[in-house]
Amino acid sequence: MTTVYYEKDANPALIARRKVAVIGFGSQGHAHSMNLKDSGIDVVVGLREGSRREPTASAAGIKVVTPEDAADWADVIMVLVPDQHQRDLYSDVIAPRLNSGDALFFAHGFSVHFGFVNAPPDVDVAMVAPKGPGHLVRRQYVEGSGVPALVAIHQDATGEAKPLALSYAHGIGGTRAGVIETTFKDEAETDLFGEQVILCGGLDSMILAAFETLTEAGYPEEMAYFEVLHELKLIVDLLFEGGISWMRHSVSDTAEYGDISRGPRIVPPETKATMKEILDEIQSGAFAREWMAENEAGAPKLLAAREAVANHPIELVGRQLRAMMPFLNEKSPEDDI
Ligand code: NAD
Ligand code: MG
Repeated sequence: MTTVYYEKDANPALIARRKVAVIGFGSQGHAHSMNLKDSGIDVVVGLREGSRREPTASAAGIKVVTPEDAADWADVIMVLVPDQHQRDLYSDVIAPRLNSGDALFFAHGFSVHFGFVNAPPDVDVAMVAPKGPGHLVRRQYVEGSGVPALVAIHQDATGEAKPLALSYAHGIGGTRAGVIETTFKDEAETDLFGEQVILCGGLDSMILAAFETLTEAGYPEEMAYFEVLHELKLIVDLLFEGGISWMRHSVSDTAEYGDISRGPRIVPPETKATMKEILDEIQSGAFAREWMAENEAGAPKLLAAREAVANHPIELVGRQLRAMMPFLNEKSPEDDI
């Protein structure tokens, strides 16, 4: 059994003795910095000159400085810029400012595990990764609860890396819900696999294919939207509450029979073989290299795909339908953190 750490397992004094710089004020950065500040930790946020997040951070009472000044001042640096920018941020800004005994923290194993960040041996390298988006990490903390988190130690230079990481996890509310110890390798690889084959890639591709199948057969777009996208939430909630048996118990017997007889045709053994190929690409580092190269080229595939989906009929009809359901609190990529 994996150990799960709770409040009693963390020493809040360890992180309170340190100077913490959070680099980035996006989804995770705003939650970490604000939670740490409310936990009484000495924290600054590092943002580039002219960052559009600066006013939000300052309004929240957070001290904002440049990433360079943050890295100079701090002895714990939490890297919360997008994964694809961490390599350059590390080499240009952080590496020249690391002192012996400093700690370098991440919220995802990507950069360290795939070799884009190589810290000197006298620095602690650890991960504190909440298993939820930043707005939830902040909201749960304010409400007195927390989002579960993972901790992992890549490098323990001081002999105190793990207690320090747990102390940080305590500061952002993670130990209220439970902190599981893992490795950079397992976190990085399973996280990429999950988002590629089911959570994002698998699901989006199934939604689009199902929507197109219904509308090409002449069914109204509105019905197709509700059927293949909107209703997903109800099913996911059941899975979340009680697993597959509870979901199957809660839907009609007809739906359950459709599930068990048709589901395996949608995901035949060939699909599972493809999942294994995708896992191989993750484990070999091929995906990580491809993603870094995509960014070096200016992210053409990513930008083209964003444009294409924004103009897909499911997005156009979805926007109209959600406008009639104001309780859904319509979100778009332009919405800030
Ligand atoms: P984000 O895109 O929401 O925010 C990134 C922030 O970094 C922004 O404030 C941006 O202005 C700033 N930034 C970008 N480049 C910078 C640079 N060179 N110097 C200084 N600031 C810069 O990112 P995020 O989703 O919070 O992801 C941060 C990390 O957290 C990633 O490692 C990610 O994998 C991890 N993570 C994210 C989530 C999530 O739900 N979003 C969950 C767990 C872990
Ligand atoms: Mg994930």
